[in-house]
Amino acid sequence: MTTPSPTSFWSGALEGAPHHPPLETHAKADVVIIGGGFSGLWTAYYLKTLSPDMDIRVLEARHVGHGASGRNGGWAIGSLAGLGRHLTGHSTEQRQALCDLLADNVDAIGATLTQEGIDADFHKGGALYVAARYPAQEALQRDYREHMLALGHRAEDCQWLTAEELETKARFQRPFGALFHRQVASLHPGKLLRGLAQRLTDMGVTLHEHSPVDQIDGGRVTTSRGSVTAAMTVVATEGYNTLPQLRPHLVPVSSLVIATEPLSAAQWEAIGLHDRPTFADASRLINYGHRSRDGRLIFGARGHYPYKALPRHQTAISSADIAMRKALLQSLFPDLGEVTISHGWGGTLGLSRSFRPHAIMDRREGIATLGGYAGEGVAASHLMARSLAERILTLDTPRTRAPWVCDGALTSLLKRWEPEPLRWLGAKGITLTYAAEEALLARQRHLPLVSPALARLNDTFASLIE
Ligand SMILES: Cc1cc2nc3c(=O)[nH]c(=O)nc-3n(C[C@H](O)[C@H](O)[C@H](O)COP(=O)(O)OP(=O)(O)OC[C@H]3O[C@@H](n4cnc5c(N)ncnc54)[C@H](O)[C@@H]3O)c2cc1C
Repeated sequence: MTTPSPTSFWSGALEGAPHHPPLETHAKADVVIIGGGFSGLWTAYYLKTLSPDMDIRVLEARHVGHGASGRNGGWAIGSLAGLGRHLTGHSTEQRQALCDLLADNVDAIGATLTQEGIDADFHKGGALYVAARYPAQEALQRDYREHMLALGHRAEDCQWLTAEELETKARFQRPFGALFHRQVASLHPGKLLRGLAQRLTDMGVTLHEHSPVDQIDGGRVTTSRGSVTAAMTVVATEGYNTLPQLRPHLVPVSSLVIATEPLSAAQWEAIGLHDRPTFADASRLINYGHRSRDGRLIFGARGHYPYKALPRHQTAISSADIAMRKALLQSLFPDLGEVTISHGWGGTLGLSRSFRPHAIMDRREGIATLGGYAGEGVAASHLMARSLAERILTLDTPRTRAPWVCDGALTSLLKRWEPEPLRWLGAKGITLTYAAEEALLARQRHLPLVSPALARLNDTFASLIE
């Protein structure tokens, strides 16, 4: 049996990419951006596109794509995690306009990649949110569709598929139906990062790798070997943040992914997914998959929050974690047969205390930040970066007027997480009750006393952290 590579499958596309020398001077710039993931690079891209004379430097602690941007599941979702929290008090028309903006964001990524000549395997095949292992999943997915419609997503974008309709798209274990969300694409994050970094260099943006910022102080950011003084500092460190300013506001949560070797034509014939939709099973223990352009299955499932968690720098995951994901994949697609896992890796995503993404600018202090994507940041980082760039340039656009864009002091707009051990206890409680609920539902056991009790326990844990 071959041992899976302990690296992100996407990182292959970054091998041999041009290196960007560390910062070794005391420089001046108009804007300095901390973090070389999607958020940092897209912010630089939109600032430079909208204001070509702007002098921009990007400082990355390790290498471009070291963080979640180089390790994710490759879904570009036309929605936002925690969107409902941004929409309180909005009318139906306003909600619909904001959901249209989120859908357009996915198309804008595709159009920008085409315009810039970046081939990142972008493919808009939609997303299947399936009920495909046990009957109780159908109600969960139908509820999810109602939730999407109540948020303001369009009915034509959120189609309910019967079991028969689902079978024409993919052959899951026990199809009961699915929500098909049209506004979702898949892409190759490594190719995107490499192409975008190259494009930024061509445009005249200066990138520095191996340049961890250890201090931000009054318009000056400092590394061990240099500094940049700028009118605006953008902190784009998300779940990999090491800066004290944001540490109490974003917790690092891990998620783990596997990739298979390319499947045979017979295997694809057996399981479908011909139009390469992304797919997720209805489960509180979130999972996500898609068919890559080179014919692999990429499949991830939410990891956990360890006590006093720090960002996960290593990519390797345990053989038990790989085996669990492989078994779940094979139970979703029993006709898949034996598959060889080529890669298994993990990364860290950022969860804000208000459970919703943000783009915040404090013009008085000359500092801004974006993030809190809660594991749905591939498309959201593009939207937040574009919105933030427009806000920095004082443009008035539908994006700068969106509720996730705010002006003011970062630490007063971002809620603080509870101290440990409360965070860990809350996370542990939620994980355990979710796992128990999943086990009961999967065994089709609706124990009259136990099931509602677990549901109430889940709600209690969730309300404790509201
Ligand atoms: C396993 C996994 C699967 C995921 N799957 C999906 C998915 O399918 N779809 C989706 O929408 N989202 C997904 N996500 C989330 C998504 O990848 C992230 O939300 C997104 O990539 C965040 O981009 P970012 O640029 O904000 O942060 P990151 O990509 O994490 O980049 C932050 C960068 O900041 C750098 N940095 C940190 N501190 C400093 C410092 N002091 N000085 C200089 N640099 C610093 C880090 O080295 C890092 O490179 C997933 C995340 C993980 C971990």
